[in-house]
Amino acid sequence: MQHYPVFLDMTEARVVIGGGGEIALAKLRLLLKTDAQITLCAPDFTPEIKAHHPRVTLVRRPLLGCDLHSARLVYAATGDATEDARIAVLGRKAGALVNVVDNLAASDFLTPAIVDRAPVVVAIGTEGAAPVLARKIKAHLEEVLPASLGILARIGKGFRAMAEHLPQGARRRDFWAEYYDTTGPRALTQGGEKQVEQALDELLSRHLAAQAPEGHVDFVSAGPGDPDLLTLKARKLIDRADVVIHDRLVSPEILELARREAVMISVGKEGFGPSTPQAEIHRLMIAHAGQGAHVVRLKGGDASVFGRLDEETAALDAAQIRWQVIPGVTAASSAAASIGQSLTRRGRNQSLRLVTAHDMQGYADHDWHRLAAPGAVTAIYMGKRAARFVQGRLLMHGASPETPVTLVENASRADQQIVPTTLAHLPKQASQLAGPAIILLGLAPNTTAQTAITLEQAL
Ligand code: SAH
Repeated sequence: MQHYPVFLDMTEARVVIGGGGEIALAKLRLLLKTDAQITLCAPDFTPEIKAHHPRVTLVRRPLLGCDLHSARLVYAATGDATEDARIAVLGRKAGALVNVVDNLAASDFLTPAIVDRAPVVVAIGTEGAAPVLARKIKAHLEEVLPASLGILARIGKGFRAMAEHLPQGARRRDFWAEYYDTTGPRALTQGGEKQVEQALDELLSRHLAAQAPEGHVDFVSAGPGDPDLLTLKARKLIDRADVVIHDRLVSPEILELARREAVMISVGKEGFGPSTPQAEIHRLMIAHAGQGAHVVRLKGGDASVFGRLDEETAALDAAQIRWQVIPGVTAASSAAASIGQSLTRRGRNQSLRLVTAHDMQGYADHDWHRLAAPGAVTAIYMGKRAARFVQGRLLMHGASPETPVTLVENASRADQQIVPTTLAHLPKQASQLAGPAIILLGLAPNTTAQTAITLEQAL
């Protein structure tokens, strides 16, 4: 992030624009939404700019150093590169931040694309990399954010002091969530602003009278990595969590979805790597939920697949703490989707096995005879290091060395790798992968698959 986003208080702030044509007008329109004191300097102005006089001071000559006294922002917007460069030098000399319109390299700051539901304002920046994308995101948000949001936020702002009667944290957040999700919009359509104020009063009384909620733990499945593969429920719960206890496999993009104030605890569990003792994970969950926190125990893939879920739920039961499980996309499903294959198929395999190649005692034993049968499909988790062992057992039980195998590393992530191979070459291929990988035994990629959707289409 080269450009750091901030919201600047523009009350009484002086802004000077060098220029009087269409480019200057575009900046002026945006600035007129604020309370800034705006001055434009140019030999001539368009009629529309003139129409804004006297709210705006017009100086009918090229910008000079003396125009910049106590200016906070300066826009060089003449459309003439040499003149803009001269203005930029003067602006910096006066200690102001300078924006040279359409010249990223010469600017101290950028004006983002905005979605205006004041006091709610969304600013979108791409650091000049993709203005088209910024416009698309803006169009999308314009659709999604109702026009009434600004009104609700303004009324809500006036009510903040009253809402402080609710204890800080989950209870206060729940109150506001209910206001913005249901109570506020409903009251506004039914009876306008007056009704919203009344509805806020009633909502607060109801929340004040309610019992303090108990702490609890949600076992949330984070999926294989792509945040778009989270369920809506998972997203909602991550968004509300006071404490997030997560495995190392959970992708950073998903952790980003938690609130900034949420306590984030990594319990680095990874194949053979260092890990937090299970008892410590139990202790953390019980301690936080015991203090009334909403704890999200975030597990990679599906929480119920090779995630030691039962041990953790048993520990909570023993401590009499409520819990629930939110299912999700397991690595095998994600990997199968990536190679365009079905995990089961009539006439090929009527059953599917999810196996782990090693357990706490070492390499795991299986019904190798069935795994080795022609057409069998098995998804092997945590299998990279055990690949040679798995290969040996399967060959010993009659599997063909030509059995198709596909390794999918970092399934669903930007750095996903698909390695099609055969049982004969499995150990060598597996040893070359560094990230989490799943072995799909009995499946080759579907070469007719056309699954790629561009980001453009997805938006
Ligand atoms: N609960 C998880 C599995 C945890 S065991 C799930 O449902 O997916 C950890 C193993 O899962 C890893 O060793 C790897 O085999 C597999 N795995 C997890 N995320 C993966 C990903 N994004 N791509 C490929 N394999 C993954």
